[in-house]
Amino acid sequence: MKNEINKTLSVLGSTGSVGRQALEAADELGCKVNFLSGMSNADLMAEQVRKYMPEAAAMADSAAAERLRGLLAGQSVKIYGGVEDLLKCISEYSADIILHSVAGLAGLPAALAAAGTGKRLAIANKESIIAAGDMIYEKVNASGGELIPVDSEHSAIFQCLCAQGLASLSSPSNGQLISKIILTASGGPFLGKKRDDMDLVTPQQALAHPTWKMGKKITVDSATLMNKGFEIIEATRLFGVDEKKVEVVVHPQSIIHSMVEYIDNSIIAQLGLPDMKSAVRYAFSYPERTFSNSGKVNFAEIGKLTFLEPDTEAFPLLDTARYAVDQNGNIPTALIAADEEAVSAFLDERISFNAISDVVSESICKIRYNIVDSISDIFNAEEEARALTKEIITKMSK
Ligand code: MG
Repeated sequence: MKNEINKTLSVLGSTGSVGRQALEAADELGCKVNFLSGMSNADLMAEQVRKYMPEAAAMADSAAAERLRGLLAGQSVKIYGGVEDLLKCISEYSADIILHSVAGLAGLPAALAAAGTGKRLAIANKESIIAAGDMIYEKVNASGGELIPVDSEHSAIFQCLCAQGLASLSSPSNGQLISKIILTASGGPFLGKKRDDMDLVTPQQALAHPTWKMGKKITVDSATLMNKGFEIIEATRLFGVDEKKVEVVVHPQSIIHSMVEYIDNSIIAQLGLPDMKSAVRYAFSYPERTFSNSGKVNFAEIGKLTFLEPDTEAFPLLDTARYAVDQNGNIPTALIAADEEAVSAFLDERISFNAISDVVSESICKIRYNIVDSISDIFNAEEEARALTKEIITKMSK
């Protein structure tokens, strides 16, 4: 069966969870890998370089790049270290498809660099979209590139739009045809719990996600529903719809990955087993579909698909995200930064699970509102929010 898509690929964040799955998808689709980048895991990067033989590899951390040079002595691959060189590599070694799976706001400069290459940017880094969606689109459009979402819900929405012939993502006419976007949420490990039940939740418990396998930060974000809050904002940015048109429904089986309701009340949904690799594979092969040997949905075996309204009292960060996108300006960026600080304090056992939402909400209510016009405005917002959030955490943990 023909399954090769004949594309070259760069993977930014190849040592992370999505990056590793992207390389598996690249294997299945016969993509040639041009460039790999990672943060600091030199051992895994060395393994990936030996297997995929890219022209170049870069580590954001310079010391890790040094280690990588040692591990790959005698190999022909060019190795770069430090963020500045890494960013240069993105255009220098640009491939047909750039998969961006760096985690967090740290991925924003790479997203902007990739958006300017005129290639396909398959983006899993939701923080960049939330903080700078407009700037990324501007660069993608100016360079003649394209943007394809990889976050599974947004890939699903994209596929539901394609089914209606609306593949041009943020087109203003989307708003005229879409009556609402329905984002599904698994509910995470604490589905059905009340706030009081979660007082003593440990990092270990929060890291045990029932349906999706992901990195640590995003797994905690799924437990607090902050991840779903981020995804509301991501959907408004990607598809040009208002926050009020983005509804969240809890769907514990994670079979429906999201839906679009059109003005005639007809709903198109995208279904499949929960597997990040299918979203990655679609972003690579779009508009084609390719054969996959990952699992198939067996409806009789699943028996039923269920739906619940999210409990915003137990999981207040969903509403906090709506507040942030309503305010807009620097507030969505502040939300990301505040959450990164709060989750890291929780993982270090400096604050409780419930305190994550308290800290984040307090931080974005206290921060000064600013208009965001440039990338430096975004980084200022990030810095200010981190400082403020750290203060709040210190006060709280005394
Ligand atoms: Mg998602």
